[in-house]
Amino acid sequence: MAVPLLELNTQNLALEGELKAAFESVLKSSQFILGPENRAFEKEIGTMIGVQHAIAVSSGTDAILLALMALDIKAGDEVICPSFTFFATAGCVVRAGAIPVFVDSDAASFNIDPDDVARKITTKTRAIIPVHLFGQCAGMDPIVELARGKGIRIIEDGAQALGATYKGRQAGTIGDFGAFSFFPSKNLGGFGDSGLLVTNDGVLAERATLLRTHGAKPKYYHKFVGANFRMDDLQCALLRVKLPHYGDYTKGRQSNARYYAEKLGSIAGIGSKILLPKENPDHGHIWNQFTLRVRDGRRDELKEFLVSRQIGSEIYYPVPLHRQECFVEFRKRAGDLPVADQLAQEVLSIPVYPELRQEQLDEVIAAIAEFVK
Ligand SMILES: *Cc1c(COP(=O)(O)O)cnc(C)c1O
Repeated sequence: MAVPLLELNTQNLALEGELKAAFESVLKSSQFILGPENRAFEKEIGTMIGVQHAIAVSSGTDAILLALMALDIKAGDEVICPSFTFFATAGCVVRAGAIPVFVDSDAASFNIDPDDVARKITTKTRAIIPVHLFGQCAGMDPIVELARGKGIRIIEDGAQALGATYKGRQAGTIGDFGAFSFFPSKNLGGFGDSGLLVTNDGVLAERATLLRTHGAKPKYYHKFVGANFRMDDLQCALLRVKLPHYGDYTKGRQSNARYYAEKLGSIAGIGSKILLPKENPDHGHIWNQFTLRVRDGRRDELKEFLVSRQIGSEIYYPVPLHRQECFVEFRKRAGDLPVADQLAQEVLSIPVYPELRQEQLDEVIAAIAEFVK
């Protein structure tokens, strides 16, 4: 039985009729840009997150870039971010003209290591971008504490963490800005590219909203140099169909993760060979990925073994950002990041999407049990 890493049709086609109706409604309205669907989507998702301002944008990447632009981060400024994350986190910093300062991660949570953040703050530090990697919130209290009183802003990269919580607060609402993505593989998967920027700061929201459309207010009178970071009304209309089901999608992932934790955790001797992801109850996990750490240099071997069993898996991420060719000029500043390097060698994400069937979960568990035997 094949178990793909992700399968979108079951989730999307369950809503086929409503999706087609939403498409048709936008088609006939001819309102394709910043129309009523855009406003309704922003209102509904803002309510779901519990945030005052939700700004629909063209991608998760653009949400981060827009946040940096709204905070006026520019050449010479330093922005601290983890090395073990998706490229966009740091790519946006460089596109804003600033210097990414890479920090190490915590091996147990995969998230930013606050002690390394503390070591790397300088008078030029303008922002920190904690990433809520794989769906679990980074430890925000120490980050907020480090930023306090130094004029350092916080942009939460919540691309993988819509609906995750930190001590009861929603991911994305703790820092100055939160960025989300609706790339199809994210927990709220769209039908193409799109994203969201959120904030509880009215002044920042106004700036970001202007910058989303070339910094113009009123139209054709430009206060700032922005760009086109808009999300299509069509995309908004389609995602509004999925939004009421989001809680169920999350529950499905959480239940799959619990099942894995229980069944994989009880395989004899697994702990010396494979480390299971740890869930901190204070950091409400939404399981965008269920990520194993395979010890003894056997990660690629496990991946191959799973391929032979028709089980999908993926290495998120094989090269930490401080080792990327395009960031070579920032490597010295980063120094040694042993945990990021180690994670890049050990991680392997296995299927956890909500529509997995019981037999598929059991197939994955049986394959891993055989591998560690
Ligand atoms: C997906 C992702 C992004 C970028 O989102 P896009 O919508 O693909 O541009 C940024 N950061 C992280 C951590 C991501 O996983």
